[in-house]
Amino acid sequence: MITELRVPDVLLLRYGELALKGGNRASFENTLVRNLHGALKPLGGGTITRRWGRIQIQPEGRWREAMKACAQTFGTKSVSPAWNTERNLDSMIAMGRTLLANKLQEYPPEARPTFRVTVKRADKDFPMTSGDLAIAIAEGMLDDDSPVLVQMKNPDIEFNIDLRPEGVFAFLDRLPGPGGLPVKTLGRGLCLLSGGIDSPVAAWSAMKRGLKVSFVSFHSPPYIGEGSRMKIRDLIRVLANWQGPSELNEVQFAEIQETIRNGAPESLRTILYRRSMQRISSHLARRSKAGALITGENLGQVASQTLENLACIGAAANVQVLRPLITYDKEEVIRLAKHIGTYEVSIREEPDCCTVFQPRKPALRARADECETVEADLNLGAIEETVVRAAHMERIHPDS
Ligand code: ATP
Ligand code: MG
Repeated sequence: MITELRVPDVLLLRYGELALKGGNRASFENTLVRNLHGALKPLGGGTITRRWGRIQIQPEGRWREAMKACAQTFGTKSVSPAWNTERNLDSMIAMGRTLLANKLQEYPPEARPTFRVTVKRADKDFPMTSGDLAIAIAEGMLDDDSPVLVQMKNPDIEFNIDLRPEGVFAFLDRLPGPGGLPVKTLGRGLCLLSGGIDSPVAAWSAMKRGLKVSFVSFHSPPYIGEGSRMKIRDLIRVLANWQGPSELNEVQFAEIQETIRNGAPESLRTILYRRSMQRISSHLARRSKAGALITGENLGQVASQTLENLACIGAAANVQVLRPLITYDKEEVIRLAKHIGTYEVSIREEPDCCTVFQPRKPALRARADECETVEADLNLGAIEETVVRAAHMERIHPDS
């Protein structure tokens, strides 16, 4: 008979504290706890306590959703739903049986999954060693008819007992988190977000290294329609699942593109668009106190992504430019985009403003000095100031 499993008493959250030293560690932990509160807030909040290098969470709302939100919070290594048991062998065995019986429902009746018991003992007052206790629990849980095979290495099912001063915790599952550093521990970045596959993955990679990411999107009505605007917002909603509510700056880009089309050599158009995006984004970055621009640029993914062109584009920025995907293969980026949840949105066919008045033969080795001369002739700086002033800012919330 299967005993009905009650709701878990607590979610145990592990984080990668090993690499951290001194003051970094306190800021990592405080920021992680703050971010977890933020992730739980739309789900009804919860109590979060930090104990002995672990975080314990008691969500107010539905625990499965809370666990998923915690597992999408950067800095989290893994999360386990855990149950309290009493500090004696019989209670641990009873809890183990209930958890195992429930777990076996996920397997077909003829399956023989492998199994082990693991005991961790932070509470050295307990009268048995970890090894002896694990054997005693396994013996108490299993008999000749048990549908599991004991296997110490990489078992399918692992019953864990954590003996701690504040209680005894029993759990089976570990939901992996993204690792990395909690968002905001390293400040803020501004991501140039197109509707493509790359830039959302670049934004996510920067979040994973501890940046809170704001976004800027360049939009060119009437050449580009509403579908592209919706797509950008849908992408940010998915990314907000990972970092919380996010800021989008929308910049009207058509006048700049028209000016470039009317007055610049055709082969330089795309490069000049990109350089203008860098200058405008640098202004916006300073305004929102972002220490870096983030782009989805990649070396050699398309013919025009040469070292010379990347340097020529980057030279127009006066904030440092991070290109997290610079050496990635397209397959790696696609795999990440699927994991993040942006892939399905990115492949929706909507044009990007860079395709407006696209040159037939784009320059492959543009030079910054050559671009600067053209830009001065066109008086681009003045138009850029106007569009920066008119940039529209909005806050976008997670979609789940
Ligand atoms: P993506 O998949 O991000 O579109 P991509 O490989 O197609 O990247 P490009 O189209 O050459 O590369 O764009 C390079 C980068 O320029 C993008 O990753 C993005 O950071 C930025 N970018 C391009 N178009 C826009 C836009 N309309 N708004 C904001 N940023 C843009
Ligand atoms: Mg693109």
